[in-house]
Amino acid sequence: MYPAKVTVTEVGARDGFQYEKTFIPTAQKIEVINKLVDAGVRRIEATSFVSPRAVPQLADAADVMAGIKRVPGLKLACLIPNHQGAARAIAAGADEMVPICSASESHNKANLNRSTAESLAGFVPIVEAAKKAGVGLNSAVAVAFGCPFEGDVAPEHVADIVHQLSDMGITNVTLGDTTGMATPAIVDRTVKVIQDKVPGTTLSLHFHNTRGIGLVNVEAGLRCGIDRYESSFAGIGGCPFAPGASGNICSEDLVYMLGELGVETGIDLTKLIECAKLVERIIGRELPGQVMKAGGRTKRFALDGATRAVG
Ligand code: ZN
Repeated sequence: MYPAKVTVTEVGARDGFQYEKTFIPTAQKIEVINKLVDAGVRRIEATSFVSPRAVPQLADAADVMAGIKRVPGLKLACLIPNHQGAARAIAAGADEMVPICSASESHNKANLNRSTAESLAGFVPIVEAAKKAGVGLNSAVAVAFGCPFEGDVAPEHVADIVHQLSDMGITNVTLGDTTGMATPAIVDRTVKVIQDKVPGTTLSLHFHNTRGIGLVNVEAGLRCGIDRYESSFAGIGGCPFAPGASGNICSEDLVYMLGELGVETGIDLTKLIECAKLVERIIGRELPGQVMKAGGRTKRFALDGATRAVG
C-alpha cells in the first residue's frame, strides 16, 4: 500500500531558520546540519543563496556549505532565487539547486515580485548553468495545493507548470503546501493529475501543519506512491508572505509516523530528536514538534512517583 522506502528531505536549516529574527551563529547552523547527517539524513536543504539584504539570517550560506561534513550519498540542496544565486550555489558546492515559482499569479507576485511566466523564463539560464556544472535541479512550486490570495488552485494548472518545467529539463519537482491548505482529497487529486499528465516527473511533497493535518496529507501522498517528503526539525518555519501561515511538518514526527507505518527512512529517530532539542536550545523557545517532547511510542517511564493520568 505504501512505498517501502522514503526519502525525507530536511529543510529546517533553510525553511525554518530563515524566519528567525536573531542571527543564528554559522557554527551552530553547521553543528545542527552535521548532527542531521549523523542521524542518517541524506538529503538536506542546507541554505539559500538569496540576497543577504532580503534574508539576513542566511547571509552566511557559503560558509555554512563549507562547514558541512560530506559523506557518501549526502545531497545538499540550496534554494536559489535567480541565476546569480545559482552561480553562488555552484561555487559553494551545492549538489542540487532549488529554483522556485508559485502555482498562483498572486503568490508569485507577492513572493517573487514577478509573474509565474517570468519566473519560469528565469529558470532557463539556471538550467544551463546547472548542466555545465553537473549540478542537479529540483524545482519548488509554492502554493500548489491552494493559495492564500486566490483560494483553490486547479490541479490541471499545477500540472501545466510541471509540464513546462519538464520541457526545460527539470524533472524533479517539489509541490509546496506553503500555507497549509492541502487536504488528503486535494493531495490525491493533484498528484494523480500530474502523474497522469507528466508521468516522467519525480515528485516531492512539502506540507505545512498550519491546520493540523500535515501528516494526514503525507499518508495521502504515500497512497499515491510518492516517496519523497520535506520536513523541518522541531516543526519550525512558516511563510512571511502568506498571512497566517505556520510551520512545516515536523521531521521527527514524520520519521516516527513512517517508522510505525513500516516505511524505511534510514534515519535514527533518537538522534533526530536530539537534533530537534539542540535547535530548541539554540532558538530559545518551545518549538511545535510533538515526538521530541513525548519520545517514541515504546519509551518507558519510571513507575515510582509517576503522576496519575486519567482520561
Ligand atoms: Zn515550508
